[in-house]
Amino acid sequence: MRAGIVVTGTEVLAGRVRDTNSPWLSERLMALGIELSYVLTCGDRPSDLMKALEFMRDEKVDLIVTSGGLGPTADDLTAEVVGEFAGRELVLDEALEQRIAQILERFSRRWKLDQEALRVANRKQAMVPEGAVALDPVGTAPGLVVPVGDQIVVVLPGPPRELHESWERALETELFQQALGGTTDYRQRMLRLFGIPESEIAETLRVVEQEVDFSGLEITTCLRRGELEVVIRSDPESDAAALSLVDRISERHSNTLFSTDGSTIDEQVAALLKDRRVGVGESCSAGLLSARLTERPGSSDYFAGGVVAYSNEAKTELLGVPAELIERHGAVSEQVAVALARGAIERFDADVAIGLTGIAGPDGGSEEKPVGRVCFCVLSIEGSEERELVRALDLPGSRPDVRDRSTTVALHLLRRLLLGEGVPDWGTRARA
Ligand code: ATP
Ligand code: MG
Repeated sequence: MRAGIVVTGTEVLAGRVRDTNSPWLSERLMALGIELSYVLTCGDRPSDLMKALEFMRDEKVDLIVTSGGLGPTADDLTAEVVGEFAGRELVLDEALEQRIAQILERFSRRWKLDQEALRVANRKQAMVPEGAVALDPVGTAPGLVVPVGDQIVVVLPGPPRELHESWERALETELFQQALGGTTDYRQRMLRLFGIPESEIAETLRVVEQEVDFSGLEITTCLRRGELEVVIRSDPESDAAALSLVDRISERHSNTLFSTDGSTIDEQVAALLKDRRVGVGESCSAGLLSARLTERPGSSDYFAGGVVAYSNEAKTELLGVPAELIERHGAVSEQVAVALARGAIERFDADVAIGLTGIAGPDGGSEEKPVGRVCFCVLSIEGSEERELVRALDLPGSRPDVRDRSTTVALHLLRRLLLGEGVPDWGTRARA
């Protein structure tokens, strides 16, 4: 079964709103074993939406999912256009009209809305292509499942939360379940590695292909935020082959493979930090590391606090880094990274801390310390036992890349420290 997504909305087309709906849908489709062939974004012009739908029809995708344009305003035309595309007249669904009226009543009481305007808007949203299934609305805009010949079109509202819930409701419809009948149950495995160039995985795949039959597998590798992701999709007959491949990658890359269950470094670090308190003293990442450590709900259980110590004075005054140490080794040095970590532990009365200092560029590099040089220290003090990992790396990329990558490196060092492991050769070690 193949699918195509049509994302509507001039705000998305113009880039004012970032499309999160199609990536979300893409994952859901994948989990159902539906192959996503296209994502097409168009503005609010009906003729453009019609062309996008026709494209999907000509490409013979089995399922078309649309996002957006279901609201009450004049630019919300998706239901109308899909109706025309399907050759189905719009008819008033009176039960739906009442249902929407109930939902609106709450708002109208609270906001004292113009009743006549409400009635018109309500009626517009209750117009459904004949023969289509209207989904129980999440907001006020009902999603639709519309049969078009052998294809089905699932029409979903644009606001992400409404889209997510409406999608689940669409899945439950008989029309959708029937269409799903013929899908193959693909399985997907995600491996994550850190500190390994893509070429080494490519080499491993070449070697393993001599022993394992890859014909039922789809293998993609992707570099993201400094990590290498390997996605292996397999049809039911090829599950054993997929498992062999995972085993072989685990053997060959045991030192860089950190996740085989889809977990991210952020999730792993959060789990490992449980019952410990972490502090941060960061310079070039200027808060990005603290922000990343607090992205997850519940992070107050382990995140004690962070200091952005950008200037030398701030390093000295806020985290007790001796001025003389900065003078002697430079602000970007392993010694200062250690002092930042030590300062953060003391300042926050933490068990674990990360010190991070570097040159994000584009200026400020030298032959001895090039742009991209970042020094890290992760330190833990438990009772009288102190453990630390210190590392100086030369990170590639532009200023934002270096700053972002440095947070990834810090999390990996922290993971290693918490697991009691040393630091492997990550290939880009600087001559510190
Ligand atoms: P509404 O009743 O809110 O108008 P709608 O179905 O008509 O719902 P749109 O008007 O297309 O939806 O979009 C409403 C809002 O939903 C957008 O302004 C945007 O904030 C968000 N949104 C729409 N499409 C997307 C998308 N693809 N990704 C992320 N957010 C989106
Ligand atoms: Mg709208």
